[in-house]
Amino acid sequence: MTVASQTSVIPMNDLARGIRRDTVALNAAIADVLNSGYVIMGPNHSAFQLELAAYLGVSHVVGVASGTDALGLAIKAVMPDGHHTVLTAANAGGYTTTAAKYAGLNVVFADVDEQSLCLTAANVHAALTDDVGVVVVTHLFGNLTDIDDLVTLCHARNIRVVEDCAQAIGARRDGRFAGSFGDIATTSFYPTKNLGALGDGGAVVTNNAAIAETVRQLSQYGWGEKYHVDMAGGTNSRLDEIQAAMLRVRLPMLDSLNARRRHIVSRYCTAALGTSITVLPAATESHVAHLAVARSSDREHTRTALLKLGVRTDVHFPVPDHRQRGFGLTQTSLPVSEKAANEIFSLPCFPELTDEEVLVVCTAIESLR
Ligand SMILES: *Cc1c(COP(=O)(O)O)cnc(C)c1O
Repeated sequence: MTVASQTSVIPMNDLARGIRRDTVALNAAIADVLNSGYVIMGPNHSAFQLELAAYLGVSHVVGVASGTDALGLAIKAVMPDGHHTVLTAANAGGYTTTAAKYAGLNVVFADVDEQSLCLTAANVHAALTDDVGVVVVTHLFGNLTDIDDLVTLCHARNIRVVEDCAQAIGARRDGRFAGSFGDIATTSFYPTKNLGALGDGGAVVTNNAAIAETVRQLSQYGWGEKYHVDMAGGTNSRLDEIQAAMLRVRLPMLDSLNARRRHIVSRYCTAALGTSITVLPAATESHVAHLAVARSSDREHTRTALLKLGVRTDVHFPVPDHRQRGFGLTQTSLPVSEKAANEIFSLPCFPELTDEEVLVVCTAIESLR
């Protein structure tokens, strides 16, 4: 029936569309891998590391098995001797906390800025303890947050800065990319990320050759040379050859896919003017619009109204880390993070959304009074 398309709901994501768009190139890349006979640590893995480093303008990229592994390896590689605590934000999905706890480290939180929902130097300063050796800054929702003051503050105290770029790959300010501001950075190639593989993957990024070598060894059993465990705390975390080949197909498309995401968010921002919601802007190259995040003081009512109009929404993220039962952490209160967790929700935002679908979402937003 012709009404079918009107009754369907616009999804938060639809990976099949991107796969269909890239199918010829992806199939060719897979065929190359099969022909090469290399399935782990082969030519695509090496080439992708070099290509991503060149794109980001950094010296070293180490491909690993996931964004969470990348965080754990990066934190371990830069934690100063004698320190065992990671400071981070509680509103970024729990990945840093998962990685730090798995590495046997303590986690403390600083509250985030009202506007950016990211860490600031002042907030980090207020939450520092003597044992903090690493601060992980998440460039949340795609926003390359301004971390220069934070890096200065940390370096003056011998604290290392990790940038989590899993949501912000390709974001840049004055030609400098997310991932090039701290001591080390991480990203994820989970399929729904801005640069997505067709399975799990991640990377660690740094300008420091010694740190890169430490990450490389930690990600490969702590081996110095083959079968010689020279470094404590190693694991196995590798980006496989097929995923590296997929990512080589998609890296050249990243800037245009990010521009499309930004365009979608700017449409939603305009549609939200004069309504009961606000949409966080993604106006410049410093924001790659991983998510289109809106705020509503009556979120569940708003989400129900949007769903009735054919628009699916989600919440990134509903429970701050210090309130997650499984983390078993206690921190008295983080008022900005907690308020945001009750108000934010995400609208459909992926590059393959059609103009017609974007219009449906905009019309639905405009009806929110
Ligand atoms: C997705 C994500 C991660 C984790 O990546 P995985 O590859 O799923 O382990 C880490 N940090 C942030 C901010 C993310 O969005």
